[in-house]
Amino acid sequence: MARKVLTLAEIRDGSLRNVSFEAIAAAKTIADGGEVVAALVGESVQSYADELIYRGADRVVVVENEKLKNYTPDGFGQALMAVVDAEKPEGIVFGHTALGKDLSPKIATKLNSGLISDVISVEQTGGNFVFTRPIYSGKAFEKKIATDGLIFVTVRPNNIPALERDESRTGNVSSLSVDIKDLRTIVKEIVRKTAEGVDLSEAKVIVAGGRGVKSAEGFEPLKELANVLGGAVGASRGACDAGYCDYSLQIGQTGKVVTPDLYIACGISGAIQHLAGMSNSKVIVAINKDPEANIFKVADYGIVGDLFEVVPLLTEEFKKL
Ligand code: FAD
Repeated sequence: MARKVLTLAEIRDGSLRNVSFEAIAAAKTIADGGEVVAALVGESVQSYADELIYRGADRVVVVENEKLKNYTPDGFGQALMAVVDAEKPEGIVFGHTALGKDLSPKIATKLNSGLISDVISVEQTGGNFVFTRPIYSGKAFEKKIATDGLIFVTVRPNNIPALERDESRTGNVSSLSVDIKDLRTIVKEIVRKTAEGVDLSEAKVIVAGGRGVKSAEGFEPLKELANVLGGAVGASRGACDAGYCDYSLQIGQTGKVVTPDLYIACGISGAIQHLAGMSNSKVIVAINKDPEANIFKVADYGIVGDLFEVVPLLTEEFKKL
C-alpha cells in the first residue's frame, strides 16, 4: 500500500548528516511506492533542499525561523507538528541520534502514536513491514511490525544504506511559515568537546583505546592510525575514567552506540558494558596482550600483542595502500 512518509533532515557543522539520507532510504521502503517528503528545519537551511532530492526525497518542506537556529525540543517540536498537520503523513522516520531520540517521543505522544526506535533494518513480508532492533544492550534482536495507524520509526546511523546520489532527480521544494511561540529552552552557548575529526556515531572506521593505552599520550598512535584510515578515535569508559580522554569519546552502554564497518579495539578488555556499544560493528579487530581477554570473543580478527608495537605497524602498512 503506497503511503506518504515524512523524514527529518539533520544538519551539523554546515553539512547534512548521513543519517538524513539513511532515513530517506528507510522511508522509501515504508512508502512502498508512495511519496517521501523531507522536512528541513532551521534558521537558514533552504540551500540543503536539493541534496535531499538527489538522495531520494520526492519533495522537501522547508521551515525557516530565527528561533530554529539551534535545536530545542520546543522549537523543532512546533515546526515538525506544523509540517505533520500540513502533510498528514502515514509514516515518519527520524535518525536515532541525540536529536531524534529527544524529539521522536515528543512528536509520537502528541500524535498519540506508537514509536519503533533504534531500527537497524526494514523488510517487507506478507504485506507487513518488519523492523529489526537490538535489545538487551545488543545481545539480542527483536522484530516488530506496526499493525495499524501511523508507522513512526527512528533508524540507527550506519545501518540502513543510503540511496545512490543522483543529481538528475528533481522534486518540489516548498516553504512552510510557522510562528514559533514561547520557547521554554534557549541555547545560549554551544561548547564542543570534540572539535576535530570524524563524527564517532557516523564513522565508518573507529580506532578505540582502553585502559591498556595507559595515558593521554598513549592515544597518539591510535589517532595516527585513525587518520590514515579516515576514521575516528573512540574509548572505553576505563580510559575515560582514568582521564586519558574526554567522555564524549566513550563507547558502550552509558556512552555512544556505534556500528562502523571496522572497529579496532586497542587495550580494551571487552566488558559487557563496552560490548553493548560496539558489538554490532561489521568487522571487529582486537589488539590485547591478554589472550584470555573477553574482547576476543566478539572479534573477527584478534592480535595478541602489545598495542604500542602492533598499532604503529598497522599504520605503516595502511600507509602503503
Ligand atoms: P580494563 O578492563 O582495565 O582492560 C584493559 C585491557 O588492556 C586489559 O584487557 C589488558 O590486557 C589490556 N592491555 C594492557 N596493556 C596493554 C598493552 N600494552 N597492549 C595491549 N593490551 C593491553 N565501559 C565502557 O567501555 N563503556 C560503557 O559505556 C560503560 N558503561 C558502564 C556502565 C555501568 C553501569 C558499569 C558498572 C560499568 C560500565 N563500564 C563501561 C565499565 C566496564 O565495566 C569496564 O570497567 C570498562 O569497559 C573497562 O575498560 P577497559 O577495557 O579499557 O579497561
